[in-house]
Amino acid sequence: MTPASLDQIEIALLKGAGPAVVERCERLGLHSVQDLLFHLPLRYQDRTRITPLGSLRPGDEVMVEGYIRVADIIKGKRRSLLCKIQDGSGTLTLRFFHFSQAQRVALRSGELLRGFGEVRVGPNGLEMVHPEYKVLQADSPPADLSQALTAIYPATEGLTQARLRQLSDQALSMLQRRENALTDWVPAELLRQHRLCSLEEALLYLHRPPAGISQERLLSTTEPHRQRLVFEELLAHHLSLIKLRQQALRIDAPVLTGDQSLRQALLASLPFSLTNAQQRVVQEVAEDMNKSAPMLRLVQGDVGSGKTVVAALAALQAVESGFQAVMMAPTEILAEQHFHNFSRWLEPLGLKVAWLAGKLKGKARQQSLEAIASGEARVIVGTHALFQDDVSFAHLGLVIIDEQHRFGVHQRLALREKGMHQGKAPHQLIMTATPIPRTLAMVAYADLDCSVIDELPPGRTPIQTVVIADQRRDAVIERVRGACMAGRQAYWVCTLIEESEVLECQAAEATTEQLKEALPELKIGLVHGRMKATEKAAVMAEFKAGDLHLLVATTVIEVGVDVPNASVMIIENPERLGLAQLHQLRGRVGRGSVESFCVLMYHAPLSQQGKARLGVMRDSTDGFVIAEKDLELRGPGEVLGTRQTGLVQFRIADLSQDEHWLDAVHEAGDWVMRHRPDISEPLIRRWLGQAERYSQA
Ligand code: ADP
Ligand code: MG
Repeated sequence: MTPASLDQIEIALLKGAGPAVVERCERLGLHSVQDLLFHLPLRYQDRTRITPLGSLRPGDEVMVEGYIRVADIIKGKRRSLLCKIQDGSGTLTLRFFHFSQAQRVALRSGELLRGFGEVRVGPNGLEMVHPEYKVLQADSPPADLSQALTAIYPATEGLTQARLRQLSDQALSMLQRRENALTDWVPAELLRQHRLCSLEEALLYLHRPPAGISQERLLSTTEPHRQRLVFEELLAHHLSLIKLRQQALRIDAPVLTGDQSLRQALLASLPFSLTNAQQRVVQEVAEDMNKSAPMLRLVQGDVGSGKTVVAALAALQAVESGFQAVMMAPTEILAEQHFHNFSRWLEPLGLKVAWLAGKLKGKARQQSLEAIASGEARVIVGTHALFQDDVSFAHLGLVIIDEQHRFGVHQRLALREKGMHQGKAPHQLIMTATPIPRTLAMVAYADLDCSVIDELPPGRTPIQTVVIADQRRDAVIERVRGACMAGRQAYWVCTLIEESEVLECQAAEATTEQLKEALPELKIGLVHGRMKATEKAAVMAEFKAGDLHLLVATTVIEVGVDVPNASVMIIENPERLGLAQLHQLRGRVGRGSVESFCVLMYHAPLSQQGKARLGVMRDSTDGFVIAEKDLELRGPGEVLGTRQTGLVQFRIADLSQDEHWLDAVHEAGDWVMRHRPDISEPLIRRWLGQAERYSQA
């Protein structure tokens, strides 16, 4: 009989796992015995040895043993039971604020007590508050010490460490008892090549490390048993992206050659010619669309590098070939801006551009839906609303997604599903203004081909950035006055307070009032995230037309807004934002030919890291340099914005530490696909779950 594999054995089958425990395990994402095995300890306690009382240091978490000298109730500020123990080397006080009569009686002077807890400094020397303890029977043999270090697991309310340990004990003994119950999918060749141990060895070691190993060594990111799991996890993740790509390529896309007519007409109508970088990327995109394999291309380009026109040219190539193109953006403001640009560029060419967003209702929405379904709308711009069930395309040839990092992989796939037409899939073009360090791109976008617009249009003067404490707010206001009186326009950005949009908007309103008072000669407007889209649009239009000198804004202006005459930006409390976001914001100025200024007005005092980060902004305007530094300073989760998307979430790997694996993992991924394609599915299932998105791409 072949034993069931541990991922199929439910936790409910273990001893001590009643419905309540099972429910709490589920809360931690633990369903099977295999899940328990991959639920690694956060840290360890050493209950393998007894520390002499004389050598205790505050902060130690240790096992102690000593004879009880006295145990008394003290009626101080808080009634407490104090128990003093001693061994040959010193004494220690155990302090209990909550205790029963039975407890008190059992702590008799002369008895031998063993305790475990954290040592801290008390009013009369070292003490432990509420230690775990046991009074040892004098006539029975000495109680055993643990053979291994004690694991402390990530837990949840109502699920004790003791219960988690008892469950993982069972899981570990199943692992050891049953042959092949947990298959080690990583082939021996790869293990040898990278000098990695077996899966079983790694898990046993990490859950129950032998005595005598230091906590630091165990928790270090270079710990070899941990590295074994990191490698496997990164490999599984990489394989999932390879699969995703293979699946996407399995379905043909329409060949969209086009006759160049519309593209040439657009280029002729633009007041500028494309930069070399834009031309190169346009060419790469055009070649992809000219094939029957669907395009899967990511275009990275710094803020202001001119991605929109590249997208418009791709859309026109689809239209020239008789197909529709859709462009999706993550926010309404950004989508509106694209809609505006596309309409301005394409309507003179006789093309109808349709608009679809959540706020579009009633008759207008109906008209849009009809134009999209009939094919009358050749180019469609919108937000997530494009996913809705009643949206159907006539013959979609190209999907363009702006600001990819805010959409998950599955959303991208969903839009592709919608675009399926006569057994063919649309081409996909993904654009991001967040420069992604190469290493992260390898992880997050390994399923995509990549193009980079690495050149800004000519005639831009670099932005001067200064970092100033908010004590000098008055001087900053004077500077704004000067610039605006000289005919320039300025942004004043209020940043998020404790993740609260309401507070952020209130702060922006208050700031607007203060600035109106301080600068009566200026016309000042306000946009924030809680205004109606039409109100926002009206204020933006005024600012764009030059009717406002100063625009106070929340971070809603982050993406897309394009006002070339705006050349001054004040950012309040920039220390609250990520560098990528600051870079995006700052990219709103410096779009014209006049010299631009950005003032980062921080709230003193600034942390060491805060200083370093603002220093990066002052010293560089290169999005890639900034992104690399951001990655160094903050780690990959923040940089990619995983909080919004869940794009890359690892259970064990940590990209800021484990980055050195990436090349090896890429190689290993190719090796697996060539020699052992059979192991990719089980590895993906183990590490990424049964996520449907990978099975039906
Ligand atoms: P982003 O890459 O940030 O989306 P946009 O596409 O919004 O950049 O372009 C920024 C500004 O630069 C727009 O006003 C756009 O019309 C202009 N632009 C784009 N390409 C060029 C170019 N080759 N020469 C001059 N201006 C350009
Ligand atoms: Mg853009």
